Amino acid sequence: MATLFIPGPTDVAPSVLQAQAQPLIGHRSGAFSDLFERIQIRLKQVLQTDHRVYVTASSGSGLQEAAVRNCVGSRLLLCSCGAFGDRWYQVAQANGVPVDLLPGAWGQPILADQVAEAMQANTYDALAVVHNETSTGVESPIEAITRRAKEINPQVIVLVDAVSSAAGVDLPVDAWGVDVLLTSSQKCFGLPPGLAFAAVSDAALERAQSVEHRGWYFDFLELEKYLVERRSTPATPAITLLYALDAQLDRILAEGLPTRFARHIAMAERVRQWAHERGFEPFAAEGYRSKTVTTATKTPDLDFEGLTGFLKSRNMVIANGYGKIKAQTFRIGHMGEITLQDVNLLLETIDEFLDGR
Ligand code: PLP
Repeated sequence: MATLFIPGPTDVAPSVLQAQAQPLIGHRSGAFSDLFERIQIRLKQVLQTDHRVYVTASSGSGLQEAAVRNCVGSRLLLCSCGAFGDRWYQVAQANGVPVDLLPGAWGQPILADQVAEAMQANTYDALAVVHNETSTGVESPIEAITRRAKEINPQVIVLVDAVSSAAGVDLPVDAWGVDVLLTSSQKCFGLPPGLAFAAVSDAALERAQSVEHRGWYFDFLELEKYLVERRSTPATPAITLLYALDAQLDRILAEGLPTRFARHIAMAERVRQWAHERGFEPFAAEGYRSKTVTTATKTPDLDFEGLTGFLKSRNMVIANGYGKIKAQTFRIGHMGEITLQDVNLLLETIDEFLDGR
């Protein structure tokens, strides 16, 4: 039974936790290279890509930093309609990357037309968009955005943050023309925090070759060199977490991607319907609601602290709102290993509290 109905970290299967207890190996050993190779093959399957996938010992924020440091030649257009887009903008600024913010309304997606307008008004050689905005519970239409952006500038490198959607939501990286898709381990992957993954296209890697001051830890060229030549990483990897990843990739592929994606959609539909019925209207615009997290609007009479205390007594956790809509909303995560049965039990328990049973 799931306990963490928050948008990450999520519950990890006992067998996957257990996999971390295997004895350590050196990261310059043949055994490690075999492990890393096995992981590489299946990560590509899960992320639906033929691009290489870099695996870093960091959370997703590290790869937000990597993407903007490696892939921006002249100027980045960073689209944000929520707290994590805003964070990415800060990350770009903190790294001295030339960047303009395309601000979207919270609760609304970023639309291809907005991106096209900004790209026609100014020249950008990189574009960054968050696929699933975990603060507002909004999913932006990446396929349409990428297509329009590349029509306007075929050289543009498209960076997508899929931290709270990859491995839970259908996101065909190559078919959609995404150049860098970055994500973290602790959400839809159903793994402990501490790993991040980036599917990186040849075009993105070529761009990195012409960019100065890419940093060292997240330098795509170094990561590439070690991946290709040594089937390893430049710095010491998080080996125990890779054991967990090795085990979890098997579980994800055994479930099957279509089944996994359908499970996330079914959970999202159930939570949205329940929220609507209870007067906790989903904050996100209809048609753009996240499949992995529902941001629900609090009713004036909701005793949220009382509710979370009650859920705690039943061993369940939901999340408060995030960023500037923290007071106004709360969030239910339905991602990773959670099942529809788990969600049903959670919602019944919340109903029990609300109805004073
Ligand atoms: N981007 C999104 C959409 C997120 O939801 C989060 C974290 O919740 C981040 C980035 C930051 O990721 P991490 O916490 O793995 O560094």
